[in-house]
Amino acid sequence: MSEESLSEVARKLELLKLRFKDKATKDIGLLQQAIDQFRVGRFGPNDVAAAYHSLHRLAGSAGSFGYLALGEEARALEVMLKPLAEASNEVAPEQVQSVIDEAFAWRVAHLIDFLSLDQAVGQRAAAASLPVNGEMATESCVLIVHSDPDRAQELVQGLELHGFAPLALPTLQKAAEYGLSDVTALIAQDTQILRDGWQLESISDTPPVISLGAGDSFDERYALAECGVDGFLGEPVDIPVLADYMERLITEREESGSGRVMIVDDDPELLEHYGLVLEAGGLEVWRVNDPADILTALSEFRPDIVLMDVQMGKYRGPNLAQMLRFEPGWLGLPIIYLSSEDDREFQVEAMAKGGDDFLTKPVSDDFLLRAVTVRCYRARQLDKLASRDSLTGLLKHSLAKSEIQNEHARCRRRGEQAVVAMLDLDHFKQVNDRFGHRAGDLVIKGLANLLRHQLRKSDVIGRYGGEEFVVALPDCSVENAQRIMQSVCKHMAGIEFHSDDQEFTVTLSVGMVPLQDFLTSDDAIDAADQALYQQKQAGRNGVWVGGDKSERVRTLG
Ligand code: GH3
Ligand code: MG
Ligand code: MG
Repeated sequence: MSEESLSEVARKLELLKLRFKDKATKDIGLLQQAIDQFRVGRFGPNDVAAAYHSLHRLAGSAGSFGYLALGEEARALEVMLKPLAEASNEVAPEQVQSVIDEAFAWRVAHLIDFLSLDQAVGQRAAAASLPVNGEMATESCVLIVHSDPDRAQELVQGLELHGFAPLALPTLQKAAEYGLSDVTALIAQDTQILRDGWQLESISDTPPVISLGAGDSFDERYALAECGVDGFLGEPVDIPVLADYMERLITEREESGSGRVMIVDDDPELLEHYGLVLEAGGLEVWRVNDPADILTALSEFRPDIVLMDVQMGKYRGPNLAQMLRFEPGWLGLPIIYLSSEDDREFQVEAMAKGGDDFLTKPVSDDFLLRAVTVRCYRARQLDKLASRDSLTGLLKHSLAKSEIQNEHARCRRRGEQAVVAMLDLDHFKQVNDRFGHRAGDLVIKGLANLLRHQLRKSDVIGRYGGEEFVVALPDCSVENAQRIMQSVCKHMAGIEFHSDDQEFTVTLSVGMVPLQDFLTSDDAIDAADQALYQQKQAGRNGVWVGGDKSERVRTLG
């Protein structure tokens, strides 16, 4: 899903939430007036029932908009009023006053406080989507289908802290009505999927579906797979485990449908045809009509794979492939020949010269698209193995450093501002010692996923060492960067991790400096590291701004 439609969903959700807040404020005001009247014995036959219904509505809706505590308080008051509201005979003023005593009136008057208290939780999640220099951070709308509203709210709140934008719905039917084309993932109870699985089949373009359930027999799992479910987790599910699982499925899904292909063919019409077919299938295409342009095109476009014709005037594909391998940078680039040559001998010989595969012409559009998409995906997975850290999927140390070096050169050349930050988990050794290495790994992954959600696509995020991360924010002021990193610290501190029966949280320290103020990017990274050290000295859990020019300011996360 595009970033626009993601932020559009987030915007719509936020508007709905504001509307709910307005309405609830009015309802609570009216309720308070009614209660005051009841206390002095002024009420008609239906007034108590009306007050009861008003509380009932609040109790039922507040949780869905993130006002969980308001919902619970309204529910408690509703339960107290219920016998009066349901009494078959008219109730006497003394009866009413015995229930609606001073304490009851006080609680109604204070319902309004819950509205501002709970919003703080909502705003933390909303902060993740605040525009950063005009660009939105990526928010992932996740639908949670659960028949137990309390459990659904727990999942919503937990996933919000991981940077997702979750929305709870009671049934799959409702999820299908909501529309799934703009949704990044769907989490649903296995019982609902097994009962209403047809709902999934009727929706083309379903997001990854994760099933939660208690039953995990072979047959049940098989039935879930048959319904098209992508993942299964046993209940009660640990939120950080769920968040990480979703992250993996979402990334896989995103990557499996995209790719960069360079087509080399001397027949302009055929070239255009292949190009259009692949573009319509969601791939990015670069067309090369003259084989002599191939090297320039490669370095500009950096494709995942190359599709190459075999006979191109005076040039032959296998010779071009062999020539490309002269450059160490292109040694691993998959080259697939598109050829009407179906002689196996010829094919084997051509592959020996540096090609990887053959697609025999004529090739159907559908087959071409599928064959190319799957090869792009594999190529990127392989590339990732080399450049990405296996635990977190973030850039490895050396690659992160070279990306920051590029950004440093760019921002100095253009006179723009950028920020580099070092992040380090607090007292992480103790986490490993107390809860085990596996729990520690989950914390590291949790922070990596949080960074992916809260930062922009254009930001550089690398795993610098064990529990140390480096981040570069191009085109970003120190003030903005500070606000963003404070939000990361806050979210991180709010995530509850579990190990066996124990619950724990982990905080994070950040040091940052303006990248453009330093002569080299290594100097900037060193200075950010010193700022990080300052924050550790100052009590951890927060952000320290360092650097030559700027004043040293310490802010709590
Ligand atoms: P401080 O707040 O000063 O940063 O204290 P700390 O305990 O976090 O600092 P220290 O650098 O002494 O400890 C880092 C620990 O991180 C030690 C190491 O065992 C652990 N660690 C490093 N890489 C990994 C990893 O991949 N997984 C897990 N679980 N632990 C790791
Ligand atoms: Mg540490
Ligand atoms: Mg460390």
